[in-house]
Amino acid sequence: MNRIHVLPPNVADMIAAGEVVERPASAVKELIENAVDAGATAITAEFRRGGAGFIRVADNGCGMSAEDARAAFLRHATSKIESAEDLQSISTLGFRGEALAAIAAVSRAEVLTRQTGAAFGTALTLNAGRIEDCREAGCPEGTTIILRELFFNTPARQKFLKRDATEAGHIHDVAVKAALGRPDISFRLLKDGEETLHTAGDGKLKSAVYSVFGRELGIALLDAAHTLGSVTVSGFVGKPETARGSRAMQFFFVNGRPVRSRTLYAALEEGFKNALPAGRMPVCVLCLDMPPSEYDINVHPAKAEIKFLYERQIFDALYFAVKGALRDAEAHTGLKLPPAAVSGDFRETLKSAGQMEIRESPAAQAAPASAPEHGDVTAFASSRREYRQSAPYMPPPATQEPRAVPIIEDAQAPEWRLIGQALGGYLLAETPDALWMIDKHAAHERALFNTLMSEKTEPMSQLLLQPQTVALPARLCAALLKEEKLLRKAGFMVEDFGAALLVREVPDFLAPEDAPSLLAEIAEKLLSGGKALNVREETMKAVACKAAIKLTQKSAAEDLKALAARVMEDPDLRHCPHGRPVAIRLTRSQLERQFLRG
Ligand code: ADP
Ligand code: MG
Repeated sequence: MNRIHVLPPNVADMIAAGEVVERPASAVKELIENAVDAGATAITAEFRRGGAGFIRVADNGCGMSAEDARAAFLRHATSKIESAEDLQSISTLGFRGEALAAIAAVSRAEVLTRQTGAAFGTALTLNAGRIEDCREAGCPEGTTIILRELFFNTPARQKFLKRDATEAGHIHDVAVKAALGRPDISFRLLKDGEETLHTAGDGKLKSAVYSVFGRELGIALLDAAHTLGSVTVSGFVGKPETARGSRAMQFFFVNGRPVRSRTLYAALEEGFKNALPAGRMPVCVLCLDMPPSEYDINVHPAKAEIKFLYERQIFDALYFAVKGALRDAEAHTGLKLPPAAVSGDFRETLKSAGQMEIRESPAAQAAPASAPEHGDVTAFASSRREYRQSAPYMPPPATQEPRAVPIIEDAQAPEWRLIGQALGGYLLAETPDALWMIDKHAAHERALFNTLMSEKTEPMSQLLLQPQTVALPARLCAALLKEEKLLRKAGFMVEDFGAALLVREVPDFLAPEDAPSLLAEIAEKLLSGGKALNVREETMKAVACKAAIKLTQKSAAEDLKALAARVMEDPDLRHCPHGRPVAIRLTRSQLERQFLRG
């Protein structure tokens, strides 16, 4: 008996569906991509609950003829490639020609489509991939696809679906990425009839970013742009203080397509080096425009992971875009990097150029010869080692005095001495080669924060003799009670007390009278943070900030010494949890330059 069969097409489709359509959001992604490929200028995606029951994507693109609409649901039916050569220069989003077939195989689908200029359109009904009905219909130009009961015939897949809120979140992410990748298209997303996203489609990345991120974060973004050979980077990076605990707010696009890439992550992080405390991830929307022949995107079924032909060129282009954005921000606040340091690095870099094994693009190789004439010293740092040598950006210190150049390095400070306090609360210390100025409050805040965040140590609580009643608006009370466990971890014990909260315990380093305002602050954060908020971290930040000694507060000499010791000996303590610097290091040579000795 024969044991090898060619799979019946519907079975093959269901297998493909598993690959392409993992969850409702993947279906939305494919439908949106098709709409983009069809040249739509407006795309509306709508869904109910988690999307499995109902998804609709409508576009005003080129539409399909009746024949094409039927063919679109055949496996490997695509209008986008005809030969293997076409694969080289593909610039549309989808090209595998299997998404629609795969989606239709696991749902009940309805299609309404009318080609631009056609007298009438086509209505198509499919059930598990089989066309049940196809007729002429009056409908607007463009295409609308409705999916009902996604995964109705694949119970295993259905079982793996997460809560509605989680699936809805994934759909939202898909729409956000699409909207940021194509600011020239107006995107609307509706969940249960309510609009959750609407971009203008005016072609300006900035307006798309504002619609997605909201005004508050929108104004904290810095312009980033750099061209290196065939690659042009444009977009925005968030100011250091907007950084997050995850990559959730990092968006990278290559020719309008959202991508993931370790090269891009590394370049971004390198650009932010020393501007952020360890573990903080910058916010960004960065778009690369480059020839399609210089990358490969077809390495992953969901087409997200990208491989670049000239990794180093990409790394450099993105790194300089980021670095430039941070430098500009710095220039606006009056803090300049020493020019000598930059050109010194530059010579170093020239000397050691060509150390990396990664292939360089012809354009990037040509850069060193021509860049000096144009005075573009930033055009070619090369290895990670040299990036570290270039003067790192740091956010400006809270005061402008003294006008030191703030540079903090990774290097450990082996020997040091506390000199004393100056200007009402700044600690002064010295190492053999530098003078250090430490913001007492920021240092203490960071030290407390690190202690709170380290899983092992739960802070000591103080039991209040008299439990405090804290009157807060009901929604704030509810928000706090919901995270009661977390508050315990931070040293609070709170109870529901009708229209108020009863506070029984507070962290031992917190003055009990500070508890009400702190709890209100935490509650506000919990409410306004949305799903991007790291609740634990925000709570700890607020607690640390409130509990840290104030700059002007008197403290015992040995406490100050202990605090200085932590800063001098732990490089992880060089920024406060909000990203502000904790310490400023003025090297001997910087000092000498200020005295015009250097
Ligand atoms: P691919 O996008 O990889 O070509 P799909 O299965 O997603 O494969 O789509 C198959 C074909 O159906 C597309 O090549 C396109 O010609 C047509 N199509 C799909 N969606 C639309 C749409 N919204 N508007 C116009 N044509 C579409
Ligand atoms: Mg497609």
